[in-house]
Amino acid sequence: MAEIDYSKRSFSYYPTNAIVYSTCIEGKWSKPVVTDNFNLSLHCFAGVFHYAPCCFEGLKAFRGVDGRVRLFRPDENAKRMESSAQYLDMPSPNMEMFLDMCVKCVQANWDYLPPTDSCGSLYLRPVLFGMNPQLGIHSSRDVMFVVMASGVGTYSGAKALVPGTAVLSRNYDRAATYGSGGYKLGANYAQSLHAYNLAHKMGYRELLFLDSATHTHIEEFGSSNFFAIKHGCYVTPNSPSVLPSITNKSLRKVAEMEFGLKVERRTIFIDELETFEEVNSCGTAVVITPISRIDDKVTLESGTITREYKYSEECGPVSEKLYRRIIGIQKGIEEDTYGWCMFVNEPK
Ligand SMILES: *Cc1c(COP(=O)(O)O)cnc(C)c1O
Repeated sequence: MAEIDYSKRSFSYYPTNAIVYSTCIEGKWSKPVVTDNFNLSLHCFAGVFHYAPCCFEGLKAFRGVDGRVRLFRPDENAKRMESSAQYLDMPSPNMEMFLDMCVKCVQANWDYLPPTDSCGSLYLRPVLFGMNPQLGIHSSRDVMFVVMASGVGTYSGAKALVPGTAVLSRNYDRAATYGSGGYKLGANYAQSLHAYNLAHKMGYRELLFLDSATHTHIEEFGSSNFFAIKHGCYVTPNSPSVLPSITNKSLRKVAEMEFGLKVERRTIFIDELETFEEVNSCGTAVVITPISRIDDKVTLESGTITREYKYSEECGPVSEKLYRRIIGIQKGIEEDTYGWCMFVNEPK
């Protein structure tokens, strides 16, 4: 196989060898199948095509400096998928099955694990969706669970820690106050795609959503959480409609236990953006991505004005320290004090 240059790759779909899938029909899970056929055969009345009973996960496998391959906190992804499936009232794989199929997927795509010294990783995408034919409105009885993989570079396709700009989403919400924002559902993305596209067309890398009830405080970016650094504090929103990011959870732990930062999970009003020293998005795909400017386009009777909140053009020192520590754990460069990584054996 020709050498892949992962520094030229972004966070996208790149072909791999195989997927792993299993179906749950009338409450019984089938034995997982590893196949190089990426085309699924589904009934056109399958629930997923109509009412969107679909949730997914995202996690990464890394080739460590010691040559061993690690998955970062896959148990957290298993738990979150279970909670998403519960919200959709449909069956979900248990922890053991989720982990087993992730391991099988990494092993089947071993050739696509990027080298340690690249910015790349093998991104796993587990997806669970309703597959039984239906027309009436009810939750899916039968589901399919598929784990697929892509050998990705950084989120932006550039070097890591390159800052981007964001705009506040004044006219579109990602999730309703008592809605599904806290679950990793495809439907949340369907809801935000249009707004996302508009932001991209305006030249912004990120869209920062506000709380849907009052539009006065910060929730999260389209596909990643928000955190900021200020006066030795790690500040991140506390809201049931924000997706509980595993990256954010890990950063909070490291910030508090190792870097002596005070962790504050609380309401962040828009005005407070002015006072932050460092602002970032965080998530599995973006890891930590610094934000250099947030624009707020406020519509007045006289027209639209843009308020700008400006930050450094480089990653802030505290954020960079957090980034190094997380990557260090993921690649086995530094000690995994918390036992976050799960090792995957090379296939025989
Ligand atoms: C997946 C996701 C995140 C990031 O979660 P991680 O577990 O850190 O990958 C943040 N926000 C949204 C909306 C997401 O879908």
